[in-house]
Amino acid sequence: MPDSVSPSATLIVATHNTHKTGEFAAMLEGFGFETILDLTAFPDLGAPEENGDTFGANAAIKALAASGAMPEALVLADDSGIEVDALCGRPGVRSARFAGENATDADNRARLLAELADVGARGKERSARFRCALAVARDGEVIASFDGAVEGVVINEEKGEGGFGYDSLFVPDGHCETFAQLPAEVKQTLSHRARAVEQLKAWLRKTR
Ligand code: IMP
Repeated sequence: MPDSVSPSATLIVATHNTHKTGEFAAMLEGFGFETILDLTAFPDLGAPEENGDTFGANAAIKALAASGAMPEALVLADDSGIEVDALCGRPGVRSARFAGENATDADNRARLLAELADVGARGKERSARFRCALAVARDGEVIASFDGAVEGVVINEEKGEGGFGYDSLFVPDGHCETFAQLPAEVKQTLSHRARAVEQLKAWLRKTR
């Protein structure tokens, strides 16, 4: 654990994905967290098995596992992914492992494009949504949970360099560019994570 950190003013984001940590840190600016850490600061903490059937169940598993890292610190876990209607909601909770257990983001995008090869070019038949579930834990107990979603379509080729995961394939409703093309500030206002974080912020305002 890093030295000179006050646990009660610390938020631990239960992820190794520094993109996600950065998005949360930007969205939670001004909420009084002196320190925001993620799991890269706790290399000895084992990764739990994410075997829940829902995003919410997996977020809770991750939050509880990370809450052992630092007593009194607030732990925030998210589980997220993309549901594609033409694939009956897949990859859903398997989004990170869509192309196999050790798949990279690029592998997963290639698999998604391949599975949708025969499905239209861009219209409603390629409708999809990102979903995000958040779980907040402290000292081994989940104390709050929230959900957010953003609707859009999966296009038939990658566009844009920003973001991560499936961003370069996803055009949110009301926009003409993918999450990887849109400025980060735009994604931060309308994403599934941003919408769940709005509820988290309301909860933090009441409880902190
Ligand atoms: P997890 O929530 O870290 O398990 O990630 C689930 C999967 O969904 C990963 O493949 C991520 O890359 C993908 N994913 C989650 N959120 C986003 C996002 O905001 N943009 C693009 N892909 C995402």
